[in-house]
Order: sequence, then structure tokens, then C-alpha cells
Amino acid sequence: MTERSTNVDVVIVGAGFAGMYQLVRMRRAGFSAIVLETADDVGGTWYWNRYPGARCDILSVDYSYSWDPELQKEWQWSERYAAQPEILRYAQFVADKHDLRRDMRFNTRVTSAEWDDDTDRWTICTDNGDDLSCRYYIMATGCLSMPKVPDIEGTDRYTGEVYFTSTWPHDGVDFTGKRVAVIGTGSSAVQSIPLIAAEADQLTVFQRTPNFSIPARNGPISDERLAPFLDNPDNVYLLHASGYEVFRGRRDVFLAEAAAHGLTPGQFAIFLPGCNVNGHLKRWGAARYAALANQLHQEGLERIALIGGPDEIEECQHIAQACGPWLVNLCGQTAVFDIPSLCEPARFIVANDTGTAHLAAATPTPMLVLCGPTDPRRVKPLGDNVITLQADLPCINCYRKTCSHHSCMAMLTPSRILQRLRELIG
Ligand SMILES: Cc1cc2nc3c(=O)[nH]c(=O)nc-3n(C[C@H](O)[C@H](O)[C@H](O)COP(=O)(O)OP(=O)(O)OC[C@H]3O[C@@H](n4cnc5c(N)ncnc54)[C@H](O)[C@@H]3O)c2cc1C
Repeated sequence: MTERSTNVDVVIVGAGFAGMYQLVRMRRAGFSAIVLETADDVGGTWYWNRYPGARCDILSVDYSYSWDPELQKEWQWSERYAAQPEILRYAQFVADKHDLRRDMRFNTRVTSAEWDDDTDRWTICTDNGDDLSCRYYIMATGCLSMPKVPDIEGTDRYTGEVYFTSTWPHDGVDFTGKRVAVIGTGSSAVQSIPLIAAEADQLTVFQRTPNFSIPARNGPISDERLAPFLDNPDNVYLLHASGYEVFRGRRDVFLAEAAAHGLTPGQFAIFLPGCNVNGHLKRWGAARYAALANQLHQEGLERIALIGGPDEIEECQHIAQACGPWLVNLCGQTAVFDIPSLCEPARFIVANDTGTAHLAAATPTPMLVLCGPTDPRRVKPLGDNVITLQADLPCINCYRKTCSHHSCMAMLTPSRILQRLRELIG
């Protein structure tokens, strides 16, 4: 370590949309974090790609962060498909609003990262001599941040100007009176060719593989389309045109199925009692889940749905047998990507600290997670809607999968869970 070394919980590489969001999440989770970025500001893709005509080719509203409801109202896109300068301004606006640059180091390229088994930490080295020590190392370096230089014989003999759309000069390029050749007809070329052609004296386009393009029909976003989004940021699902269709599709299927089981949105809870992977039981146990379910039902909760994977079928059957028909056992009947759709309409969730709980944490539904006494930073799902309960024991057997007694779980009694649930949902 040099004199310019820094100790933090988390080092994030890249200040694009992913790196900015990671920083927000790490701060919210109480970690100290530093973002390292080669460029001199935030934006990533939208910092580097400044070629003429650069813009997003999915709807601008889709290209917005959804984790800050205020932001959704404060920022209004001028076009359906915003141009690069506007997207970069958006990234800068978010960085200003959340004071992100405070924990970012620009003009800094990460050159190496080495894990030390003795200290359980990473050492991260950079090209400006700073080095950092961290427990968690997150690569938010993007999938398109390394330009591909075409391997074309003879290009080294070309003495004219050469530009890459991915590292376009910040002051722009004047093509007036020039003969220009563009290699490729992918989306960057489709966007830039008309603008370069309008300026250049002559333009030749080299195309290996024809692409299919459709008219963008760009223009301002209508008030009618924007209104539901502004009134209720949750409607982000309804407004988003592309990726969320899948989510919505599954959600509709689930809501129909749920209705058939008498699961009315807001009137049922979900239990995620896994997991039992490879025969290593790491859960609260059928008897305790059943006791909790019965108590909740006596207190007026209409229904409880059990969700689990094939490993949990037997355990879930034990829970179901100890309850009445109001307990809907869906164990083994759902796919992993059904979990957010299933959990979203529930009133609350009780889960073990497994992967499914992390997926469920993506929904706004209040969730109580029962954790084994392993490193809480590894196991606890994050979210403002999540509270976790963990026995205060100096034990790491769950983590090593060598435990035969699970006394830690015994300390989390059903009445303690009920008390925390009341605090969570009122
Ligand atoms: C021209 C173009 C148009 C696009 N349009 C769309 C679109 O319409 N819709 C869509 O969904 N996606 C689009 N994409 C994909 C886009 O890359 C992603 O949407 C998103 O911006 C990626 O964000 P990111 O934070 O993961 O990575 P990036 O934005 O690529 O950020 C990664 C950052 O990591 C930094 N970095 C990398 N290595 C190091 C290192 N060793 N040390 C320090 N810093 C480093 C880079 O400088 C960069 O700033 C487009 C991509 C391009 C190139």
C-alpha cells in the first residue's frame, strides 16, 4: 500500500448508469464506497459516445432510473428517444441531486485487482498511483465500454483523420468539404450517417451485413402518455414499453391464478421458507412457519401462499398439513422469475435469507427476513421495505454448511417474528 491508499467497504469501477446506481445502493445499505472512473465525469456510455446523432433507441422514459420517485417527477424528457447530450445531462443531474461525485474519483483507471485470502480484502491499483483496499469489488464497467478497433489490413498506412463513435472528440468534428467513409451500418452508423452526409462533400458507407431499421417516429412525449407516470411512479411498469412487458405478462398470469386460489391483492402473505440445497437445511423449519401461519390467520389474515423450489416440497407439505385450506401451497409450481410477480401483490412476505428473498426484495412489498448468524453483509437482502432478524451468536456454521442443530433459528421464536411483523406492517 502506498501513502495514497484508501480503505473502504466497496470499490465500484465505472461511473455509468450501473456504477451510479451501485453507489446509491451501497450508501443506503450503510457501506462506505468509492467509484473509480477513467473519464472526467459521470455518464459512461453517454460520456464517451458523442458522435453526431447519438441517442437512445429505447424510449427515454425506459432509460430512466426508477429508484427515486421524486426524480421521475423532477426530470422531463424532451423527446421519446433522447439525444446523447440530454442523457448525459440526466446522468449529471442525478449525480448532483444525490451528491454522488463526493465518492467518485475521475481520471482514474483501474489497472489491477488482487484478492488476499488472509485479510479477506481486495487491493485495487490505479494508473495514477492511488491504491485502495476493499472488501467488495464491483465491476460496473459496462458491456460496450471497450472500443473494438477493426482489424483491416492497410489501415496503418492511412494518414487521414480517423474517428471512433465510441470516443468521439468532445468539441465535435467539422466534415464540411471532406470526403468521408463510414465503416459499418449498426445503430451508431444509422444514427450518424444522415448527419455526416448532410455536412460532408462526399460520403461512402461500407456495409458487410445489412441491418433492418424501422423509422423511429421520434418526437415529444405526449402529456397523455406521461401523466400516469407522473401521478404515480409505480406506473413505471405500465409505461415502460419493452422489458417490463415480460414482467407484466407474468404478473397478469399470476393474478389470474392467484384469484383462482382466493388470493386477493393486499389480503394475503407469502412465505419463502427455503432453502434446503444439497440437503443442507438452512431454514426456520416447518413447525415454526406453521405456528406463525396459524397465528396470522387467527388475527384475520385471509390467505398465506407458500413458494419454494423442488427441494422445499416436503417441508412445505408439512407446513400445509398443519394449517387449514386458507394456506395455498404453490411450492414447486413456480419459476424463479415468477417470484417478483407473485410477491408484488402480497401484503407482506416472511422469508429465509436465500436467493429467492433477494429477488422478492426487488418488489416494494414489506418483507421480514430470518437470517442465520453468518456475515450479515453477505446474506441480508437490501431494500427500504426489508427488515431482517438475526440471532446474536458468534457462529458461522450455516455458512460452512456444517450445522446439525440450528439453535440460532430457535432463538427467532414465532412470537418474536409476529412482534416485528406488527412493527413492519402496522
Ligand atoms: C451508442 C450506444 C447507444 C446505446 N443505446 C442504448 C439504448 O438505447 N438502450 C439501452 O438500454 N442501452 C443502450 N446502450 C447500452 C449502454 O451501454 C447501457 O444502456 C448502459 O449505459 C451501460 O451502463 P453501464 O454503467 O453498465 O456501463 P457504461 O456506461 O459503459 O460505463 C462503464 C464505465 O466504466 C468505465 N471503466 C471501464 N473500465 C474501467 C477501468 N478499468 N477503470 C476505470 N473505469 C473504467 C468506463 O470509462 C465507463 O465510463 C447503448 C450503448 C451505446 C454504446
